[in-house]
Amino acid sequence: MSYTVSPIGFLRSCFKEKFAIPRQPQLAPAARGVLELLPPFDQGEAVQGLERVSHVWLLFLFHQALEDKPRLKVRPPRLGGNQSLGVFASRATHRPNGIGQSVVKLDRVEPGRLWLSGIDLLDGTPILDIKPYVPYADCVGEAVNAIADSAPQPITVDWQESALLQARAHGQRLGEPLVELIEQCLAQDPRPAYQVPPPQRRYGAAFWDVDVRWHYPEPGRIRVLEVIAPAASE
Ligand code: SAM
Repeated sequence: MSYTVSPIGFLRSCFKEKFAIPRQPQLAPAARGVLELLPPFDQGEAVQGLERVSHVWLLFLFHQALEDKPRLKVRPPRLGGNQSLGVFASRATHRPNGIGQSVVKLDRVEPGRLWLSGIDLLDGTPILDIKPYVPYADCVGEAVNAIADSAPQPITVDWQESALLQARAHGQRLGEPLVELIEQCLAQDPRPAYQVPPPQRRYGAAFWDVDVRWHYPEPGRIRVLEVIAPAASE
């Protein structure tokens, strides 16, 4: 038996590639995006009342991780990528039906558009539904998850002076908190846990329209080396 679902909109996100996206929402409050609703949901009626809500659930498709063959076990990055777990005990992207869910902050509502922050979604993600966060029902005080019991410990991020100036300038051009976005995302240490990064190894990821390059001068510390617009990086 199969059912068909259709996106109600697509997200325009600060994250242009999967690498360096935080592994859950809320970890990078400066991560922003705009959800553009499709007809008929692009009319004011569909979002009427949402201005009274601070956070929403997004249900979406992991459109860049869809697979034909269902997995029963996954190796979540949270466990270092070398321990496996039942797919239903994990929030990994590779899962039956490829459905993700995130609680994100709703910053502004307009007919056809929602401004969101604290997101963990890739640019172009198809959104299947939006639901208001209901604190009395969704916040479970006594909840326990012994696999992921608290947010990962952030690592230190510092800047090469020139990179900080570049990030400030691009942030101003974009009208986005780019310095904070980079710091919050890199503090999550995007590198796969099994990689031991020698200081000469460079890592990179795209945020908005800029490429960010960094290295690990020592384990547990990131230094941002460059923040460049794609044209300048060629
Ligand atoms: N909060 C969601 C959940 O629990 O269902 C997502 C958790 S999942 C572990 C977060 C990761 O999904 C991000 O770090 C990013 O690499 C990946 N991701 C985000 N949007 C995606 C998309 N549209 N397609 C594939 N992977 C995506």
